[in-house]
Amino acid sequence: MDLSKSNEFYEEAKKYIPGGASSNVRVTEEHAPFPILFRRGRGSKVWDVDGNEYIDYLLSYGALILGHCHPKIVEAIKRQLNEATMIGTTTELEIKAAKKICEMVPSADMVKFSTTGTEATMSAIRIARAYAGRDKIVKFEGHYHGHHDCVLYSVVADPMFAGLEHAPRKLPWFAGVPGEVAQTVIVAAWNNLSLLERTLRKDAEDIAAVIMEPIMANNSVIVPSDGYLEGVREITQKYDIVLIFDEVFTGFRVAKGGAQELLGVTPDLSCFSKALGGGVPIAAIAGEKDIMEMVVPGKIGFAGTYNANPLSLSACLAVLEELSRNDGEALTNMKSLGMKLTDGLQEILDSTGHDGIVPSVGALFSMLFTKLEEITNYRQWITCDLEKFKHFRDLMVEMGVYLHPDGMERVVLSTVHTPEDINKTLATAEDALKKLPK
Ligand code: PLP
Repeated sequence: MDLSKSNEFYEEAKKYIPGGASSNVRVTEEHAPFPILFRRGRGSKVWDVDGNEYIDYLLSYGALILGHCHPKIVEAIKRQLNEATMIGTTTELEIKAAKKICEMVPSADMVKFSTTGTEATMSAIRIARAYAGRDKIVKFEGHYHGHHDCVLYSVVADPMFAGLEHAPRKLPWFAGVPGEVAQTVIVAAWNNLSLLERTLRKDAEDIAAVIMEPIMANNSVIVPSDGYLEGVREITQKYDIVLIFDEVFTGFRVAKGGAQELLGVTPDLSCFSKALGGGVPIAAIAGEKDIMEMVVPGKIGFAGTYNANPLSLSACLAVLEELSRNDGEALTNMKSLGMKLTDGLQEILDSTGHDGIVPSVGALFSMLFTKLEEITNYRQWITCDLEKFKHFRDLMVEMGVYLHPDGMERVVLSTVHTPEDINKTLATAEDALKKLPK
């Protein structure tokens, strides 16, 4: 595979962009002869700057739920380009998109738009703190909520330093997070109700919010144990603590109304981005009227020049309409293709004699090299063989199936992946696993 232009461009990029990329998650330089720079995408495929073709399972970290350049998104954006790219007042599109989200998401009575998932979780936490009149938040080990200060604890937690599983130590992920912020954050172990109950009981009067991914989609795909979310809902209500679901990854993907629809538990506030825009920058904070009505001048602050920009909204509405068409047919089809792929991968792992599992929720999955039969929390995930995954991934990429090298990133499908894509991916995985040392 010729990657000479990718390498040339990357060297040039590094002269002007630290690390050669504007998100450190995209810096995958240790994967010689990678990294690969893409130029073009259509449907389920991407082409790199050297002209190599791949089936895309990165899909811009989950944003491209309808694949690349979906005609309905392209048409909506073109139409909007002739109207206005930015306006700076409320628009009809904004009202339509907010209404549509309220129709689709079980807990959404009202919506505010912003631009990224990071902003959405940052704003949801501020809203919750203002509403509750308390400062502390509880977040969970291994959960990622973007890159603002108070959620940057224990996203990745080296077990050498992270303390015991039932009493995780709070570890800042990056330098630059002021020590004072740590005073307002409690890190807890996820998927363990009695531990959470104990934590909330101890500090209830100071805790404004509990924030979580209702299905973990960073650091493997992990579903909550039976009754866990229901229990969290009950104890947060008992202590008057705002429950925030970060559905930036799961929203408009695992079901039309996100994980809360799929699992039947509704939070007070939810955050959405990624699939919401189908590839354009947009995010939403949705929630109950009681709380959301407070997000107005003189009560709870909220701002952003690019919030609810018409270009993004036009694409967002096209996505939401496509996802709700024929009672969610597109997501139903995507889910069944996802299951065909994950079942197939598990069979190939077994038949080629590799210890591994493929935890999944429909078309959202991880491939883990482990002897464990199930993964229920971060501490189990961290024991998986991530180096082996990288090796497997490099073999897949060389054969035209693009996965991210970091096992922390999950794998996703779009609604336009085809049965042929799945068959080719399975055949490639079989080849790769046969070559991969045990
Ligand atoms: N929350 C979750 C669950 C995410 O997966 C991400 C991004 O991967 C974010 C928040 C942050 O979103 P963004 O990268 O748009 O800021």
